[in-house]
Amino acid sequence: MTGPPDQPFRSLSGMRDVLAPESSRRRALVGEFAAVAGSAGYEEVVLPLVEDLGVFRRVGEATDVVTKEMYDFVDKDGTRIALRPEMTAGAVRAFVQHRPTLPWKVWYAGSNFRHERPQKGRYRSFDQVGVEVLGVDDADLDVEVIALGWRFYQRLGLRRIRLLLNSLGEHEDRVRYTEAVRRHLHARRDELSEAALETLERNPLRVLDSKRREDRAVIADAPKVAEHLSEDAAAHFARVRAGLDSLGIPYTIEDRLVRGLDYYRRTTFEYVADALDAAQNAVGGGGRYDRLAEDLGGPPTDGIGFALGVDRILLACDAESVFPAPSADMDAFVVDLVGGAAARDLTHLLRDAGMSADRRFGGGSMKSQMKSADRSGARFALIVGDDELAVDEVTVRDLRSGGEQRRVHRDQLIDDLRTHL
Ligand code: AMP
Repeated sequence: MTGPPDQPFRSLSGMRDVLAPESSRRRALVGEFAAVAGSAGYEEVVLPLVEDLGVFRRVGEATDVVTKEMYDFVDKDGTRIALRPEMTAGAVRAFVQHRPTLPWKVWYAGSNFRHERPQKGRYRSFDQVGVEVLGVDDADLDVEVIALGWRFYQRLGLRRIRLLLNSLGEHEDRVRYTEAVRRHLHARRDELSEAALETLERNPLRVLDSKRREDRAVIADAPKVAEHLSEDAAAHFARVRAGLDSLGIPYTIEDRLVRGLDYYRRTTFEYVADALDAAQNAVGGGGRYDRLAEDLGGPPTDGIGFALGVDRILLACDAESVFPAPSADMDAFVVDLVGGAAARDLTHLLRDAGMSADRRFGGGSMKSQMKSADRSGARFALIVGDDELAVDEVTVRDLRSGGEQRRVHRDQLIDDLRTHL
């Protein structure tokens, strides 16, 4: 087919374009995260956007994320693959494949895809930053990981974040607890919503996550996981709490916190932003997992991690009026009043000297070019007019000191600007 479409193309539902200045804010956010994680000894891991479908199937057989929301398809060679709905599974798959020295402490940033019903704070393509640590079974590591996320929110300036904490116990504890919850829900099935009944068949613990009003009373009466913890799991949890207390990180024990994916054990946690609407206020979450490395073909290995939702964190920053987009800080903007080679060569001279420089193409009046210079955020406007050109000079106007200006010879220009920047 040729010719223009009837309607201009638009991005797909739930997928967004991010333009400046929001794009630089995102980049800055990832930079802050890299700094916080880097200073705690975490190294970046870059993972593929797609994995063998089996990688995700293995880790979340009974979850909505994997059974209903995944973008999966058959590749040209017949392999069933999926766009990643989260990054833990890929990170552990990478661990199993490369077997790096333990402990393996990594951070990541990237897009994930879930075919959800789009609304504010819930998108089909969304970004996460996160960490994973493999090979350490120590409650102090749980404290390190939880504190790292906390420190990151603090560093962005967010003050209305709450940490919710729970322990799901060991695998066997979880199995016993799941059975107790299943029995409880079954006994009161007449009171539950349709959706909860459906979830009950597949994954009873997930019903505890239901936000539907009909389900609330039944959920409130459900057995508590704390009553099903083994001695070891209870001791581990006590040490995590003591660590957080000692660091002065406030938390609430939330015994309904079961998290979406199947693989969690012992510590689970979530960060909630009170500045956001309750329906979409989870800005991050994570926990300990086991069996994940084994399920993906590796040796039994302890793991813990979290993923934080970049899109929602930025909404929370808006709501708390913190972490604005960094200001564009161009060094110079070339205003070309003569046309021809002079402005071109001057711009490149500046860039070659390591300065940031932009220019207007196609001329225009002095007034409109000065407007562009202002908009660019440049410190100096470098004006090239006929007078200047005749004597090989440039007019340097300081845009941040009320328009003070001076004439400088081209040969001295770089040195001159350097002393003023
Ligand atoms: P989860 O793996 O579902 O716990 O996701 C971790 C974090 O990613 C959540 O706390 C959210 O902040 C964010 N997140 C998850 N799904 C979405 C989505 N569809 N749109 C935007 N953010 C999301």
